[in-house]
Amino acid sequence: MNILKSYKYILYGLDCANCAKKIEDKIAKTEGYEDVNVNFSTLKLSFKTDKKDGVKEEIVKIVTSLEPEVEVLDEGKKKEDTQRNGFDIIRLILGLVIFLIGMYGNFGDLVCNICTVVSLIILLSRTAVKGFKQVTKNKVLDENTLIVVSSIGAYLVGKGMEGVMVITLYEIGKILEARAVSKTRKSISSLMDIKPEYANIKINDDVKKVLPDEVKIGDIIVVKAGEKIPLDGKVISGAAELDNSALTGESKLVKVKKDDKVLSGSINAQGLIEIEVEEVYENSTVNQILNMVENATDKKAKTENFVAKAAKIYTPVVMGLAVIVAIFMPLIFKDVTYSQSIYKALIFLVISCPCSIAISVPLSYFSGIGKSSKRGILVKGSDYLDGLKDIGTVVFDKTGTITTGSFEVSQINALDSNYSEEEILNYFAMGESFSNHPIAQSILKLTNIDFDKQKVEDFKEISGRGLSYKFEGNTILVGNKELVDYDKDKTEGTKIFLKINETVIGAINLADTIKEGTKDALDKLKDRDIKVRIFTGDNRRIANKIADELEVKNVEAEMLPADKYNALEKILKKYKNTDGKVAFVGDGINDSPVLALADVGVSMGGVGANSAIEASDVVIMTDSIDKINEAIEISKKTSKIIKQNLIFAITTKIVILVLSTIGIAGMWQAVFADVGVTILSVLNVLRIMWKKI
Ligand code: ADP
Ligand code: MG
Repeated sequence: MNILKSYKYILYGLDCANCAKKIEDKIAKTEGYEDVNVNFSTLKLSFKTDKKDGVKEEIVKIVTSLEPEVEVLDEGKKKEDTQRNGFDIIRLILGLVIFLIGMYGNFGDLVCNICTVVSLIILLSRTAVKGFKQVTKNKVLDENTLIVVSSIGAYLVGKGMEGVMVITLYEIGKILEARAVSKTRKSISSLMDIKPEYANIKINDDVKKVLPDEVKIGDIIVVKAGEKIPLDGKVISGAAELDNSALTGESKLVKVKKDDKVLSGSINAQGLIEIEVEEVYENSTVNQILNMVENATDKKAKTENFVAKAAKIYTPVVMGLAVIVAIFMPLIFKDVTYSQSIYKALIFLVISCPCSIAISVPLSYFSGIGKSSKRGILVKGSDYLDGLKDIGTVVFDKTGTITTGSFEVSQINALDSNYSEEEILNYFAMGESFSNHPIAQSILKLTNIDFDKQKVEDFKEISGRGLSYKFEGNTILVGNKELVDYDKDKTEGTKIFLKINETVIGAINLADTIKEGTKDALDKLKDRDIKVRIFTGDNRRIANKIADELEVKNVEAEMLPADKYNALEKILKKYKNTDGKVAFVGDGINDSPVLALADVGVSMGGVGANSAIEASDVVIMTDSIDKINEAIEISKKTSKIIKQNLIFAITTKIVILVLSTIGIAGMWQAVFADVGVTILSVLNVLRIMWKKI
């Protein structure tokens, strides 16, 4: 197999959601390109290919064959939008002035007529070229064609003034629309302004500024106050207070000192630190977050897909209807002339353009995703953002999700007098040093034994139960009572045992505490009529105790990962179509299968567990359960704005359609129903980001 390389480009000047889809489809159909995605909200084109030469050239060719005005830029290159707007404004003024001179200059009918035609040519030029290309190249009749046909049509039926006004309003609308869209895009990208621009790398005693992706693992970087941490690593000297708000949405400063791990994307608010880099930029937290959010539109929401598909068939259908109106109205109503019916059909066409919906729906989802990421909630697709609002049941994993997962060791029991407490602890620690379960970390905190890792053989993690290894010829088991087959234990709490060969030698009592704010967060979920359940691999008594404390009725304990999977599958089947979606919230340690199975898989404590990030649909960067409520709020808000925009667009269009049929509204109002509605909808989208949730 050839190695696929990822590419990213900016499609500068891409101004219609429909064209984004067309470009995406065409590249995807071209041989050798995979995972093609065009994100209309960020203008980013991404894909993978194993081709080595001429990739950009080929892409440029495909893109310009569809959208000649679009420029393919390398990622990171920015261009200001003003240039094109400036030219359009000059053209607009020129066209209008010529028209007004002809109209009010008293030069007679012929001059007036010539001026109107010239003005129409100037005003229509850009739109006509665009529309013509769509018709000839893509065989679609789009908005541009509609407007051109309408303006020319108005002129031909003797309403030259209307014709000029249509295109003028349309052009003004387009300029404003471009501004509104670019403003929205800017707000979204400022939400995600976490990309580090440079790293200060320290070589001997010199400090040099380099790009983050030039830094290697093991390099030392210096981060001064006010700078972003560019790569993940470990502090080796100095101390600082970090602002992690861009990652977690929490504004409390976090103190770090020597030996603490730090994540890229956080800002050094105060202090000076030197960091030993532990991940290259590609794998660093900040890049993972950016990738996840940018690729979020891979998984498009049903509404979004529906809109994209609908737009494709919608215009031809409307065109057909308009032709019917134009031909049959005079036949049915005797007092309607053909020029009147054609004019009505044209109004009809302009009103029914679906542009506002096609633009505002993807922008809304993207704003919602941007907003969530600002709050430390990474949503992997508009599909999931949409799904969050429909959640009817949330199933929580216990350890590390509902509880802190940092166990206090309350007691070490020796059950066999041949071994001392210290020896017992050492056997525990040797095994746990290979595990990344929260229990492992807690036990390792108790001791700093030094042992030869080579001597530990055949280490196996037994998911949901514990672990096993061989040491000096003995078989050692560390885990819960099911694993070691020990039924004499009746104490409360999480207890793990040590078994050497056939005998249980010792036990450690662990106490885990419920995370702060969990009860309130669960109560809020219940207030929304969302059912709450707990699944845990821990023993029944501790599970019940925690469930009681949190007033959760449904709790299942002593589950292996496979049991969790089966139980969730049952719930999914039972609630399908009746009780909303089912979310599973876990910490990602041994629950990747359930995370992937749930309608919405949510992993907590985000950074670190890569498998969890991959398997889940939503990643919460903090430890706070309440973030689920926030995510649901953002989802609801987004969907509310989408609905408002849909209703606004459809009602305005219907009202103006009716008014024009009875002769009250003319072409101007029709143009408002098209571009005016688009601008207002896009401005409405901005509220998703502004509104405090
Ligand atoms: P939960 O479902 O609450 O997250 P897990 O499925 O991760 O729990 O683990 C279930 C039980 O298995 C733990 O309560 C513990 O008794 C045992 N266990 C799992 N991993 C380990 C380990 N590394 N060391 C000791 N015990 C473990
Ligand atoms: Mg767990």
